[in-house]
Amino acid sequence: MSFRPTLDFLLYHWLDAESLKQRDRFADHSRETFDAVFDTCERIAREKYAPFNRIVDTQEPHFDGEKVILPQATHDAHKAYAASGMLSAAQDYEVGGMQLPYTVEAAANAFFAMASVSIGSGLLTTGNANLLMVHGTEMQKEVFAKNEFSGRFSGTMCLSEPQAGSSLSDVMTRAVPDGDGFEADPLGPRYRLTGNKMWISSGEHELTDNIIHLVLAKIPGPDGKLIAGTRGISLFIVPKKMVDTHGALTGVRNDVALAGLNHKLGWRGTTNTLLNFGEGKYPVPSTGSGQAVSGAVGYLVGKPHEGLRCMFHMMNEARIGVGTAATMLGMAGYYASLDYAKNRPQGRPVGGGSKNGTGAVGKDASQPQVRIIEHADVKRMLLAQKAYCEGALALELYCARLVDEHHTADAQAADDARLLLEVLTPIAKSWPSEWCLEANSLAIQVHGGYGYTRDFPVEQYWRDNRLNMIHEGTHGIQAMDLLGRKVLMEGGRGLQLLAARINATVEKATQAPELAEHANALAKALQQVGSATKAAWATGEPGQALANAVPYMQAFGHTVLAWVWLDVALASLSAQKSAIHSIAAHAGRMGATRYFYRYELPKIGAWLKVVETRDLTCADLPEEAF
Ligand SMILES: Cc1cc2nc3c(=O)[nH]c(=O)nc-3n(C[C@H](O)[C@H](O)[C@H](O)COP(=O)(O)OP(=O)(O)OC[C@H]3O[C@@H](n4cnc5c(N)ncnc54)[C@H](O)[C@@H]3O)c2cc1C
Repeated sequence: MSFRPTLDFLLYHWLDAESLKQRDRFADHSRETFDAVFDTCERIAREKYAPFNRIVDTQEPHFDGEKVILPQATHDAHKAYAASGMLSAAQDYEVGGMQLPYTVEAAANAFFAMASVSIGSGLLTTGNANLLMVHGTEMQKEVFAKNEFSGRFSGTMCLSEPQAGSSLSDVMTRAVPDGDGFEADPLGPRYRLTGNKMWISSGEHELTDNIIHLVLAKIPGPDGKLIAGTRGISLFIVPKKMVDTHGALTGVRNDVALAGLNHKLGWRGTTNTLLNFGEGKYPVPSTGSGQAVSGAVGYLVGKPHEGLRCMFHMMNEARIGVGTAATMLGMAGYYASLDYAKNRPQGRPVGGGSKNGTGAVGKDASQPQVRIIEHADVKRMLLAQKAYCEGALALELYCARLVDEHHTADAQAADDARLLLEVLTPIAKSWPSEWCLEANSLAIQVHGGYGYTRDFPVEQYWRDNRLNMIHEGTHGIQAMDLLGRKVLMEGGRGLQLLAARINATVEKATQAPELAEHANALAKALQQVGSATKAAWATGEPGQALANAVPYMQAFGHTVLAWVWLDVALASLSAQKSAIHSIAAHAGRMGATRYFYRYELPKIGAWLKVVETRDLTCADLPEEAF
C-alpha cells in the first residue's frame, strides 16, 4: 500500500505546499520538481531500504576488534541516499544543494523512515552539516560540512555522557587549548578533549571515509575547574581521522576510541556507541612540539561557552525528524495490519440470528468465516491507527511548513511561525512517539499471535519506535519544556497564536453541518487547556505546576491533533466538492476525524483534572511507600 496519496493530499490540498514557489528562495521549484524528488526517494526506499529492514535488525553491528561491521545493504543504502542529493536537499545551490523547502525535504525523508528507519543515519549527518553552515567558519564549512553533504564524511551529535543525559549541565568532557598557538589553526581554535560520550548514534562504522563528531565539552575556567551549569558548555568538531585544510585525510588517527557498542531493543541498523575521547589510544602530534600526546583534537565551533545555543539551533528540525520517524513507523504498522486484516479469515459476524440462537454471539459454525476486518473491534484498532498516524503526519508537515515560514515569510509571519514552532515542537516530537507507538501495539494486536512473532514485521516496528520517547529529550523532559517554558514564554504569546489558529478552524467548521459538533468540542477542549494552564501555575510553585506535566502534554497534544484533524476534514470537504479526490479517501478522513472526536478527545478531561487540581498523589508519595 502506498502512502503517496495521503501525502499528496496533505501537502498539496491541505497545506498548499505548491504556493511556496512564490518565495524567491524556491522560485525554481514547482509541484513537478517536488514530485520528482518524491519519486526518487520512494524508489530508493523501495529498492534499497525496505527489503533489508529485517536484515539490519538481525545482523546487528559488531566489532571485530578493529572495525565495526555492518551488512552490505547498509553500505548500499548509504550510497544511494547520498547519490540522491538528499543530504544537502535544503542547502543553497552554490553548496550543491537543491534549495528545497524544508516541508518537501521532511516529506521526502518520510519514505525512508517507513521503509527502514535504522538503515540510514542521513538525518544526523545533515543536521551536523547544517549546523556548521550556520555556526562554522568558512574553512569549517568547506572542509567538514561540504564533505558531509557529498556523503564522503558522516556526522554525529555527541551530547550525552554516562552520567549526563537529560541534564546536560552535568557534562564533564573537558577541552583545553592545544598549546600556545592553539588559536592559529586554520580549521579553528584547536583544543584537546578528554571524556566519555554515551549513546552516540553512528559513532563508529566504515560507511564513510571519516566521521565528524560534534561534541559538547567544557573549557575549564582560570582555576582549572569546569564551570557549573550549561553556561560553560562549548561545541567542538572532533574528526575521527585528522584532515588537512583541503579535507584530505592526513593519515593520522584522532584520539577517539570505541569503548563499546550498545545492544539495543530496536533501531539496530544504526550503530550506537560509547566513545572515549582523549584516553591516549591514538596519540596525536601536538602543534608546538610535534610530539604525539593523548587528547582528542577538537576545533571550536562558534564562541566559547555558546555550545548549547549552537547545538539547539537545529533542535526544531531534529525534533520534527524524530516525530516523523515515529509517525512513519506507526504508518508502516498500520499498512501491515490493514493488509493482514483484509486477508485473515477468523470468526463469524455477531448478530444475524440463527436457528439455535448462537449467531448472536458469532458462534454459528454453519456460517462461513469472515475476514477479521469485518469485526467491529478490529475496525476500531485500524481506525485508531489511521487517526494516530495520518494525524501525526499532518502535524509534522504543518510544523515543517512553519520552519519554511520562519525562514522565508515576511517579518511578522516569520516571527509568528518561530513562536508557534516553539510551542508545537514538544508536541511534534512527543505525540507521535507515544501514539504512533500505541498504533504499533495495535498493529501487533490485529495480527493476534502472529504479530508476536518475528515472522511478521510489526513487532520490529514497535521495538524500533520505542526509542522515540527516550532520545532527543525524554517524554518527561519535553512535557516540562512545554508547561514550564513554552506556554509561558513571551507572555504566553505562542499559546495565544495557537489558540487563534484553532479558533479560526473552529469558526469555519461551525459552518459545515458535518463538522459543527466537532467544532464545538474543540472550542471546549481549547478552553479546558487554557484554564488548566492557568490553574497549574496558580500558586506559582513549579513543584506543583510541573508534577503532572506529562498528563498536561497528553491533553495538549490531543487537543492539537483534534484541531489538525478538523482542519484536514475541512480540506477534505472542499476537495470533495470539487471532486478532486476519491470518495473512499474522503470517507476515511471523515471517519478518522469522527474517531478522534468520539474516542480520543474526551480523554483530555481525566488528564487535565490532575493538572488543574495540582494533584500531588505521585509527587508526594514517600520513596519507602513504593
Ligand atoms: C538508541 C539511542 C540513541 C541515542 N543517540 C544519541 C546521540 O546520537 N547523541 C546523544 O548525545 N545522545 C543520544 N542518545 C541519548 C539520549 O538522548 C538520552 O538517553 C536521553 O537524553 C535520556 O538520558 P538518559 O538515558 O541519561 O536518561 P536520564 O536522563 O537518566 O533519565 C531517566 C528517566 O528519568 C527522567 N528524568 C530525568 N531527569 C528528570 C527531571 N529533571 N525531571 C523529571 N524526570 C526526569 C527521564 O524523563 C527518564 O524517564 C541516544 C539514546 C538512545 C537510547
